[in-house]
Amino acid sequence: LPSKLPQVGTTIFTVMSKMASDHGAINLSQGFPSFNCYPYLMDLVAQYMRDGYNQYAPMSGVPILKQRIAEKTLISFGLSIDPEKEVTVVSGATEAIFSAVTAVVSLGDEVILLEPSYDSYAPAVELSGGIPVYVPLSLPDFSVDWDRVSAAITEKTRLIMVNTPHNPCGYVWTKEDLDNLASLIQDRDIYVVSDEVYEYITFDGRPHLPLMSHPLLRERTFTCGSFGKTFHVTGWKIGYCIAPPALTEAFRKIHQFVTFSTATPLQYALAEFLMEPSRYESLSDFYQTKRDLFCEGLKKTAFEFTPAQGSFFQLVSYGHLSQASDYALSVKMCKEVGVACIPVSVFYHDKQDHKLLRFCFAKDDGLLEKALGLLQGLD
Ligand code: PMP
Ligand code: GLN
Repeated sequence: LPSKLPQVGTTIFTVMSKMASDHGAINLSQGFPSFNCYPYLMDLVAQYMRDGYNQYAPMSGVPILKQRIAEKTLISFGLSIDPEKEVTVVSGATEAIFSAVTAVVSLGDEVILLEPSYDSYAPAVELSGGIPVYVPLSLPDFSVDWDRVSAAITEKTRLIMVNTPHNPCGYVWTKEDLDNLASLIQDRDIYVVSDEVYEYITFDGRPHLPLMSHPLLRERTFTCGSFGKTFHVTGWKIGYCIAPPALTEAFRKIHQFVTFSTATPLQYALAEFLMEPSRYESLSDFYQTKRDLFCEGLKKTAFEFTPAQGSFFQLVSYGHLSQASDYALSVKMCKEVGVACIPVSVFYHDKQDHKLLRFCFAKDDGLLEKALGLLQGLD
């Protein structure tokens, strides 16, 4: 069958996780926690299932969960949103991104993607007939080069995809970044999809600044969130999209035909679980301990790195050690060293190889220590 995505193979996350499992390697490749979620959250799901909450949820989400998402947005970021008109519960941030892109992008529209970029963005754009326009982030810190973004904007630009905190680089947007984006799009008909799935994972006291905290961006942005990241349940595939009423209306027109609605007992359980803000407000501290443990161990390896500002990924650079491609080195490390990671070139459309590897540190401390021991043996 002729493919609508001819250049796309199986995602790197599937490939590397399988390779890790086949070779018994410690899997620091695909981004998911090695530990379980709170037992109370699982009890809540079981309870709602037993109580009969097992049929279709309303298309846009159960009202109590939309309300709790609005409450947490106020508590965490001081932003007021209308739960009924501005929040949609979705089956994972991947669905939120896909539905938002589909709602906005038509044939021939240009969409700016900042590279490296998460792997689902470009396919979503292309399936809507859009044209990805790639703008590289600036090495070594992966900040946004606003002159290049400005130069990439044309009459056809319809959307820009943002990801903060960033996967795989960990860069966290600053107030200046928000202001720069706002001034670039203010006189143009350009929307924003902001992937903020790591909104609760920032380090060293750095705040996460939701794009919608800027008044102009607030009017243009679809914000995508994921409970998978915040509550250690990536397998539940449940998240949300927050956008102004007119954008939410357009979003729901797509969402209703992609999944229609999202698992009912999970929605009720999460609504109840969200009543205690410390359950999400404590996440940065939780992951800071892991980032610090991982970075301390990395200091004893031959890799070079700058500690991630946010997300649960750490990049390391090895160009001073080897000229092997990042893909070849990842495969070799998985098979011969026993630690699986992700080659960063997969996040570039032209597979640019900056000799960088991504490790996920959302793992039990014992597993991280074991992996570090293996990495410290390398030279
Ligand atoms: N965006 C980014 C940047 C991610 O890292 C991920 C998952 N790791 C997603 C989106 C997808 O989130 P979900 O699993 O909720 O679909
Ligand atoms: N987002 C996760 C990562 O970056 C993987 C999600 C997936 O496997 N699709 O590793």
